[in-house]
Amino acid sequence: MDKKYLLAPGPTPIPPEVLLSMAEPIIHHRAPVFSTLFDEVKKGLKYVFQTKNGVLIFASSGTGGMEGAIVNTLSKGDKAIVVRGGKFGERWGQLCQAYGVEPVFIDVEWGRSVNPETIFDILKKDPGIKAVCIQASETSTGVSHDVKRIGEYVKKLDNTITIVDAITALGVYDIKTDEWGLDVVVAGSQKAFMLPPGLAFVSMSEKAWKFAEKSNLPKFYFDFKKEKKNQEKNQTAYTPAVSLIVGLSKVLNSIQKEGIEKVFQRHHKLAEATRTAMKALGLELLAKDFPSDACTAILAPAGIDGQQVVKILREKHGMTIAGGQDHLKGKIFRIAHLGYFDKFDIIIAVAGVEIVLKELGAKIELGKGVRVAEEILGG
Ligand SMILES: *Cc1c(COP(=O)(O)O)cnc(C)c1O
Repeated sequence: MDKKYLLAPGPTPIPPEVLLSMAEPIIHHRAPVFSTLFDEVKKGLKYVFQTKNGVLIFASSGTGGMEGAIVNTLSKGDKAIVVRGGKFGERWGQLCQAYGVEPVFIDVEWGRSVNPETIFDILKKDPGIKAVCIQASETSTGVSHDVKRIGEYVKKLDNTITIVDAITALGVYDIKTDEWGLDVVVAGSQKAFMLPPGLAFVSMSEKAWKFAEKSNLPKFYFDFKKEKKNQEKNQTAYTPAVSLIVGLSKVLNSIQKEGIEKVFQRHHKLAEATRTAMKALGLELLAKDFPSDACTAILAPAGIDGQQVVKILREKHGMTIAGGQDHLKGKIFRIAHLGYFDKFDIIIAVAGVEIVLKELGAKIELGKGVRVAEEILGG
């Protein structure tokens, strides 16, 4: 018996009916049946992104969407603020540098949320800065950044846009793309969208499209203007990931049926239960402020290697959670609660952590975290 539990922040579990829909015989992407499906999917994406603008779909991982965001809005020599408070913040910097955009780094301690005032001060001193690149949810640390305040500030500036990696925020907690003035918002299929990896989604504001008119960075597959023209006709410039889009239509239907507010409430409750259970066990969270409802990063107790927690859970108990990256390797482990997750997934995760920590010699009272989780989730 070798039952598997996937409790990592991407790829996330997939609902069985979605898996089955993707196993159906493939349809042709230039046939009317695909256009009808694509039209439906576009509407569903607008709902989840809370935007009236079109959301572009690409066959790539989330990073492809991030790359497209940079190369379509910026130009060589432009400056862009990059909030670097984790692995994915670093990625914005690497992407900028790969294309000759100069990153203005704001280094934030891993586990902290950026102070928006720091961003505003830099923009006041240097109004020439073209973009603020940030994560709504920094998955590597389990921290969320205040993209609402940042968006509302940058919205008033003619010369600057916000470029938001919302890959583990969208469909988890409230991201009001239009209302907050978020210009470019990127998401991916393998997180809260409950799909296999392979799709990137990008929304663009009118302001972002104006930037796209001036952008001179090289691009071909991720040419947003070309893709927009096609997608407005319910087509894609190149062969789309047809089966994933079939699955996506199922997922979007179920999200719309549950209602986005309910989706947010569910995630918040799962996150709260995870955080409270871990604290009840005497463990400390990495997020000192503004924890993300997508995943919880927990400090390994003194003398215990976080990587061992991950390894034993996987090898002995069939449970996949995530470890820490770079300087946090061995220091933390991360439990996801996004997408196709319900209360019993959290109880399983907490139970697994209790069992393994005890096995590793930590002072853990078995069932203490589970009890707290049950109390929060039971009602
Ligand atoms: C998963 C993730 C990405 C995208 O990574 P890919 O492996 O390219 O899909 C980007 N940003 C964040 C915050 C993520 O969690």
